[in-house]
Amino acid sequence: MHKRLHFRGFRPVLLFLSILFLSAAFLGACGKASLSPSGTEGSQTASDKKVSKTSFFLNTVVTITLYGTEDDSLIEECFSLCQRYESLLSRTASGSDVYALNHRATDTVSDETLSLIKTGLDYSALSGGAFDITIGSCSSLWDFTAEVPSVPNRDAILEGLAHVGYEKLSLDGNTVSFSDSETFLDLGAIAKGYIADRLKEFLVENHVTSAIIDLGGNVLCLGEKPDGRSFQIGIQRPFDTQGTPLLVIPVSDWSVVTSGTYERCFEEGGKLYHHILDPSTGYPCENNLLSVTILSEHSVDGDALSTACFSLGLEEGTALIDSLDDIYAIFVTDDYQIHYSDGLLDRFSVSSP
Ligand code: ADP
Ligand code: MG
Repeated sequence: MHKRLHFRGFRPVLLFLSILFLSAAFLGACGKASLSPSGTEGSQTASDKKVSKTSFFLNTVVTITLYGTEDDSLIEECFSLCQRYESLLSRTASGSDVYALNHRATDTVSDETLSLIKTGLDYSALSGGAFDITIGSCSSLWDFTAEVPSVPNRDAILEGLAHVGYEKLSLDGNTVSFSDSETFLDLGAIAKGYIADRLKEFLVENHVTSAIIDLGGNVLCLGEKPDGRSFQIGIQRPFDTQGTPLLVIPVSDWSVVTSGTYERCFEEGGKLYHHILDPSTGYPCENNLLSVTILSEHSVDGDALSTACFSLGLEEGTALIDSLDDIYAIFVTDDYQIHYSDGLLDRFSVSSP
């Protein structure tokens, strides 16, 4: 018996974050108007201006908001960049570097794909394989966004599992080789973070000083709001559809990335199957976690580590984060308890609404 959850394939976290940004901006504008010496409510100042656009790339909803301007041309250029990176890094888009590698149509990749594979290999090793960019032979068996999703055949999972292992992939210049002909790359757990970082670089080069890049809940802040306050980033209460955040964190210039069981999932036989796979079983990670949020300067680190820590579980995930400089994590367990990594509460003024 398949039960399709109403949030499957939809990214409530994104919608929620977007709403939060909008309402924060709205509240900011109201506050400013009431303090305005001229008393002219609604008059536009540089700090009131903003422009926001949403589109669909990378299998998710992408929203970019620029503050202090109403010109959306840079957002359109960001969308073109999303399109370009999707056509390099997607596992499923025919013609991408990853698709060509997986179909053994080439062994040579672009510098950008190479740099992301290198980062992916570093995190695969750092996590002891709990995060593994060669999960492709297993992840391709699962379709969490199918009309009627189902658990793949057990033998197929075991067969796929035999080919997972980042040590089967090696690099020599821009040449990628696999020691196993059925080992496939999947950069899905790290690509959005990488792309968010590239979009931020592009906006900085174009003199943007205040923006939010939101790639399906993979949120990267550029600077702070024009009035000098931090962006208020909401962390979703897992499975909540009302939009009340579990936590709100003031963030300037940093990345906030969450991986959760509720993002892409389905239920079968009374059991929830979600999209973060355990590379030692080929099945979704089974631990007591509902979500892991990583706060970091660069979004690629947050994306890799949110997936890695989810797969490692609370104890090992916390130990990994505590061993890294200037990276913080929030774990939410299935009893809805919140667990912070060392130093997070000193560094960020977290509040619960
Ligand atoms: P989201 O795409 O929702 O932001 P993640 O960043 O956690 O979520 O990435 C999940 C995706 O990464 C999966 O859809 C799959 O393609 C891939 N993946 C799943 N499990 C792992 C894993 N243990 N290591 C590396 N990649 C994984
Ligand atoms: Mg990730």
